[in-house]
Amino acid sequence: MSDTKKHYGFTTTILHNDRRKPIEQGSLHKPIHTSVAFGYGDARQLASVFQGKEPGFRYGRQGNPTVAALEDKISKMEDGVATLCFGTGMAAIGALAQALLKEGDHVVSSSFLFGNTNSLWNTVAGQGTDVAFVDATDVANVEAALRDNTRLVFVETVANPRTQIADLARIGELCRARGILYVVDNTMTTPWLFRPKAVGAGLVVNSLTKSIGGHGMALGGALTDTGLFDWSGYPNIAPNFRKLAPAAQGMAQLRAKSLRDFGASLGPEAAHHIAVGAETLALRMDRTCANALALAQMLEADDRVAAVYYPGLASHPQHGIATDLFRAYGSLFSFELKEGIDCFDYLNRLQIAIPASNLGDTRTLVIPVAHTIFFEMGPERRASMGIAESLIRVSVGIEDTADLVEDFRSALS
Ligand SMILES: *Cc1c(COP(=O)(O)O)cnc(C)c1O
Repeated sequence: MSDTKKHYGFTTTILHNDRRKPIEQGSLHKPIHTSVAFGYGDARQLASVFQGKEPGFRYGRQGNPTVAALEDKISKMEDGVATLCFGTGMAAIGALAQALLKEGDHVVSSSFLFGNTNSLWNTVAGQGTDVAFVDATDVANVEAALRDNTRLVFVETVANPRTQIADLARIGELCRARGILYVVDNTMTTPWLFRPKAVGAGLVVNSLTKSIGGHGMALGGALTDTGLFDWSGYPNIAPNFRKLAPAAQGMAQLRAKSLRDFGASLGPEAAHHIAVGAETLALRMDRTCANALALAQMLEADDRVAAVYYPGLASHPQHGIATDLFRAYGSLFSFELKEGIDCFDYLNRLQIAIPASNLGDTRTLVIPVAHTIFFEMGPERRASMGIAESLIRVSVGIEDTADLVEDFRSALS
């Protein structure tokens, strides 16, 4: 499969990507390189690798062949120009603050966020970068929050757990017009359902722990540069990275500051497990999205359920945006039970779905949100984020549809 053929589909490309580069002993899967250091017969070659004059690996913290193969796969998935992998999704998001922000900078973030990302932005705010949280389902709120020192706008595609969808395309237009870096966390949609590059994102975040790995057996995260952002206009690029081609400056600084200096690296074994899982991303997502839609429709039609939040339902406020932009509506939904049904009792009656806090596993996982992942932020912030005390989040797996529907239905009584 040569690189001149660019028209292969998503899954074909991911499956065969490793073979586009010379691969050891004809091995069909990229081998797991556990070596931390990389030796060179010629000391001058070692020096030029260190100086970035020729490609090569120096030390495992900055890069590793197994991790590089995964980075390449994710770039293909997102149609990006370069990807950096990290030890977790949070490390990938933390790298933005670590490598790209300074005291006195300003960030505009969606207020509908993964709980730990919310906490991370609060930490960043405590270190001298101002963070404005806005309702990003309306671009007007983002625009009103922008300042001269706004360095980046951060949104999630589908917010976990209430499934609000950011005004993705309009925010992209706004950021492009103002020359602001647009960062989109694509974890919930994955590059199979949506490519943030299509709405102008400069950087894309993926937690590889979730649907891309898919098996829930390895942590990982990634940042992908889509090639759309002009780094030559970004104020916080250090002088030594300014010497590089403008297109390479952002990722070079991110790799140096967050991997080399901060050590947020992904290990080769985890990279291997994620790469194996990634091969079936599209197949799994098609199944989990179909299951999620069936479950959401059944629950919405049942009068013991107070509310169902799923972008695939016509009742969802951003159903139109989701229909326009996404291939399907995702594997995650949440719902509230009517008063009189205790959410803990309901969860304990489920036979198939497992109370657990991960997302994007092959197994269906359920969690009482207010009492677990959103417990620390307290009732007021929960209310402002639309998190009811009885809210149950469901990460839908690949089980047989009829079995899941029956499980969720019979637990209602
Ligand atoms: C899970 C998640 C993260 C963090 O990823 P980890 O790999 O668990 O660190 C970030 N963003 C979203 C939307 C997530 O669901």
